[in-house]
Amino acid sequence: MKETVFAAALALSLGSPSAFAAETADVVVVGAGAAGLSASIGAAARGAKVILLEKTTDAGGNTAFAKLGLNAAATPDQAAARITGDSPTLFAADTIRYGHQINDAALVRAMTVTSAPALAWLETLGAKLCLRITPVGSEERPRLMAPCDGTAVGPRLIQVLKAKALQSQVDLRTQARATKLILADQKVSGIEVQTPKGRYQIKAKAVVLATGGFAAYSALVNQVHPSLKGIAPVGFRGATGDGLVIARAAGASLLDLDQLEIRPTVSVKGNVPIEEALRARGGILLNKSGKRFTDETGIRDIVSQDILKQSGHSAYLVIDSEIFDADKALQTYVDQGLMKRCGTVAAVAKAIGANSAAVKSTLNRYYRAYDRKFDQDFARYEMRVRLDQGPWYVAAVKPGVLATLGGIKINDRAEVLGSGDTPIPGLYAAGEVTAGVQGGNMMPGNGLTDAVTFGLIAGAKSAAYVGKTGL
Ligand SMILES: Cc1cc2nc3c(=O)[nH]c(=O)nc-3n(C[C@H](O)[C@H](O)[C@H](O)COP(=O)(O)OP(=O)(O)OC[C@H]3O[C@@H](n4cnc5c(N)ncnc54)[C@H](O)[C@@H]3O)c2cc1C
Repeated sequence: MKETVFAAALALSLGSPSAFAAETADVVVVGAGAAGLSASIGAAARGAKVILLEKTTDAGGNTAFAKLGLNAAATPDQAAARITGDSPTLFAADTIRYGHQINDAALVRAMTVTSAPALAWLETLGAKLCLRITPVGSEERPRLMAPCDGTAVGPRLIQVLKAKALQSQVDLRTQARATKLILADQKVSGIEVQTPKGRYQIKAKAVVLATGGFAAYSALVNQVHPSLKGIAPVGFRGATGDGLVIARAAGASLLDLDQLEIRPTVSVKGNVPIEEALRARGGILLNKSGKRFTDETGIRDIVSQDILKQSGHSAYLVIDSEIFDADKALQTYVDQGLMKRCGTVAAVAKAIGANSAAVKSTLNRYYRAYDRKFDQDFARYEMRVRLDQGPWYVAAVKPGVLATLGGIKINDRAEVLGSGDTPIPGLYAAGEVTAGVQGGNMMPGNGLTDAVTFGLIAGAKSAAYVGKTGL
């Protein structure tokens, strides 16, 4: 893992308060996504008085945008489906392989060991999740859990977690933005809060930062990844890295800020990630002049950089019926107006706004490359279809940051680490605001697994720190 030199963009101030009306809590949790809600419930269950601060008008964050599911290993659902041999160890190996081997193994272990109990806990809250038997990617065993009724996972989690938090007497305060930690003798002693009505402070010996990522903090994204200048966030616009600023000011170490989860093809309309596999299955990318400009199957960063170099910093994903008809789910893109059906090559050109002859010439050149099994323009070696089966389908796309993988350095007890890897007493962090769990690439389903498992760990450890160990 790479220790990050404090980025100048992080010097941004979250404001400093003038007058306060002080109050107290045992644990203050900052951010009401999956991590913050899980931490709040976990701490409250051990008898802590918890205040949960949320800067927007409701709980949700990026969690509310998650559609696919979350992972858990060695579960009763796997046993029922006769999927044998899964374990936290195998799940950890998958996570580290996906993460390009730069994950913190101890954090990954904590997540994978906690995944099955966390899932069982979510089920007791009424999450109603079912195992998705078809593998999502290259995981060794199917272990993705998603709502049994086929609806999106994120809103379901927020619904059950928020209900449980309120039932557990967690004091959820919306439009309450944490701005700064208060330290006494280098230990946490409280937090400052900004609301539309003014500022106040809360005295608390423990604070859990669960503020999510910084995909929407463009200045920082540009600074850590200048080659992706102009890239926009996918999802929640409030992912502005507040937790990094707050933690850094208190002496926390930050890691791997340059590790971003990029999606090269996010629909220009609606900001929805378009299935990545469509490129591998044979889709090509055209610019506004109707020309190819990259090996579409290349690594995400390079494809994204090449799209950002095109006019309008965007491109058009083109697939044919052979690809479209093989995946029933793609009709949703057409229904949502994200993908246009084009009966002829001339219609493809019209959808792009390009010259018809230019698109015809590009496609003819691609057919020849397919026939020769050699793409002399961009050395794309995987061309699964000839792409000549109309109708064609076209989606306007641009690259986006789905998640940020680096952040606050923590240990497997969710304690925030400062210089010399020494924990900052009373400071905890969980979820996307932290570094080390995902490494350099996120395994599908692990964003939520990280948030829920480390939320529970942070809730338990922060409560224990203030002397609350159970009811
Ligand atoms: C489109 C999309 C789809 C995804 N799909 C999946 C999926 O299927 N499976 C999966 O595992 N992962 C998925 N992810 C990733 C996943 O959503 C995140 O990794 C996860 O939700 C992060 O949870 P969190 O609780 O750490 O942060 P969040 O859910 O983002 O919550 C952070 C909260 O903190 C609040 N906050 C921030 N700063 C402050 C402050 N200063 N004071 C008070 N409150 C503050 C925010 O308003 C927000 O409510 C997806 C992401 C996107 C964008």
